[in-house]
Amino acid sequence: MTNWAKSSHDSATPKIEYKKICPIGWYKTEIVYADADNKHESTEASTEFVMVYEHTKDKFKAFIKSIPSANLLDEWSKEYLDDELMQPKIKKWINEYFDRKTDDIGQKLESDLIKIVRHIAQDPYQSAPEYHSFEQRETYDLDKIAYKVIDFSSRLKYEYLDKEFSQPETLWKVFYKSLIRFETAVDAAIRNIINPKPEGETTPVVILPLERRDKELNEVEKEEVKKRDGYACLCCGVNTKGKLQIDHIKPFSMGGETSKENSQTLCVTCNKCKGQNEIDFRCNTTKLSIPKNLDLSLISEGEKAIKALTRVLNFFYHCKAVSKIDWEVYTYTYNIYLYPSNNPEWLLQHKAELLKLIKNKLGCHAEYINVNTMK
Ligand SMILES: [Zn+2]
Repeated sequence: MTNWAKSSHDSATPKIEYKKICPIGWYKTEIVYADADNKHESTEASTEFVMVYEHTKDKFKAFIKSIPSANLLDEWSKEYLDDELMQPKIKKWINEYFDRKTDDIGQKLESDLIKIVRHIAQDPYQSAPEYHSFEQRETYDLDKIAYKVIDFSSRLKYEYLDKEFSQPETLWKVFYKSLIRFETAVDAAIRNIINPKPEGETTPVVILPLERRDKELNEVEKEEVKKRDGYACLCCGVNTKGKLQIDHIKPFSMGGETSKENSQTLCVTCNKCKGQNEIDFRCNTTKLSIPKNLDLSLISEGEKAIKALTRVLNFFYHCKAVSKIDWEVYTYTYNIYLYPSNNPEWLLQHKAELLKLIKNKLGCHAEYINVNTMK
């Protein structure tokens, strides 16, 4: 059991009223940053939600009002935040506008303020992030879900929760981030139903699991992630033991949490190439709507052609798009197989460059490249 799961039974965990953990609305923040994995003028936008609760609504309003974009240092809009610059400011804002004891739900207040300030810093014309009021609170009543699944077998219950969690139009993902947290919360709600508190006592609500702010997983968890990922780099497939590292999918500096769900196994080279970009190589479908530039510098000296090519292509699609690459020895043909929903046309435009890369930089003989999509 993970630490945060334990904490939900912990008698020392403070009880928070239902109202206080059920958001009444959210701010939508957007951070646009120059794409660091190529030198061209491409940018990437990342949308983040900041949950607002009844008791924090006015506080956020006052806080946002107090930040005129003109007074913000450029530093806030950069992709890499300088911790030394940021931390004292954030602490000051929290002291001034919030109460850490009641408002730091799920230990997210600091990263929420960063999201808001970065949004404002980057967007001097529109300034404040948009507030959306959350009218469907009823839909997100955990007790309702708990009653629904309380008599299900474990298998049926987890299947049902998986389906509910994955529905595209719901906000469970925003609230709970990962399926396992959602399941833990529902299980806790079931325990409350089976073993209710005496009347008059406030029904303890399901505490949103705490986010850990450790920078790294512990050794046992790292090993579990590697095992889950088949002891191989999810980007290029390298499986040399000493070369594997655990990477934050969403970088720690961007508010990414240290959890197994936000971790992936990468080799040293792929991890270095990824840098502070948010790329999920557990995902087989690109999230990009337009292709990026092909970065041919992402190879290291003396690498095997197929591994290097796989890396260049997966970075190009910003996910694990390549299912396999094979080489027909007699015809000097490279066959590239992409997972479905990754547009092969994006790659076909770069055929000549890729052939050149294989011949000149990887030292292999190549005459033809085919790009296929797996059915
Ligand atoms: Zn790799």
